[in-house]
Amino acid sequence: MTAGEIATALAEAETAFQQPPTNPEVDLAYVTDESLLQLRKACRLLDAAEFLLERNGHFTIIIEASFVAIERSLQYYVTDRGYSVPGQRHTEVYDRGVQAGLFSQEAADRLEALWTEHRSKSYYRTGIAGEYRAQAMFQLATAIHSEVVAVTRTQDCICD
Ligand SMILES: [Zn+2]
Repeated sequence: MTAGEIATALAEAETAFQQPPTNPEVDLAYVTDESLLQLRKACRLLDAAEFLLERNGHFTIIIEASFVAIERSLQYYVTDRGYSVPGQRHTEVYDRGVQAGLFSQEAADRLEALWTEHRSKSYYRTGIAGEYRAQAMFQLATAIHSEVVAVTRTQDCICD
């Protein structure tokens, strides 16, 4: 790919995000509530992670998707509980989860450590994603998402 091709592709990507989405993702289209959109994105990420897990081998993306699904689920939860969604640091959302009563400070610290130590390692390939890690992260993300859905009593989760 030449510099010119990259510049063209970059301009195309910028244009794509400046326009309303064409063929919007199933179950995300017409969701205008920001908090609900976070929940639904978590549902879709978990669905995709499960799909890949059943097909075996795409462990890096399963781990990534699981971490993001946890984050989105927590964002939904803290917003539902009337707290503002954290800004810059990804890990802030775990502290908000404690403030909003979802889990203990110890659990938040462990989740934050997991994110800090392992998400970036999986992402940057200094750590290698594997099946057990992918399964464990998917189970964790599913457990947190299910707890959020149960506690908030939302009817808007689209997971099976
Ligand atoms: Zn769901």
